[in-house]
Amino acid sequence: MSANRIVYKCAICLDVSEEPRECHGRPMIRCQVGGPGSEDCRPLEGESGELRTRMPRWWIEITRALARSKGGESSGNQYHT
Ligand SMILES: [Zn+2]
Repeated sequence: MSANRIVYKCAICLDVSEEPRECHGRPMIRCQVGGPGSEDCRPLEGESGELRTRMPRWWIEITRALARSKGGESSGNQYHT
């Protein structure tokens, strides 16, 4: 089971790298994504099979998490590490 791969994503510009590095002065977020053909790499589909987005699922998860963390900043400075 070595199908998983790791990518790194900038929280600011959402750039993606295959290697750990810094972007915009902060380390990119480590993301584990599935290998080709895995669930995480498939775009979301609606009930009738239409594509709801072209983004792979892992990307959407990260984007949501980033949106949540940004909202947290403005409402109480709550960071979880
Ligand atoms: Zn960046």
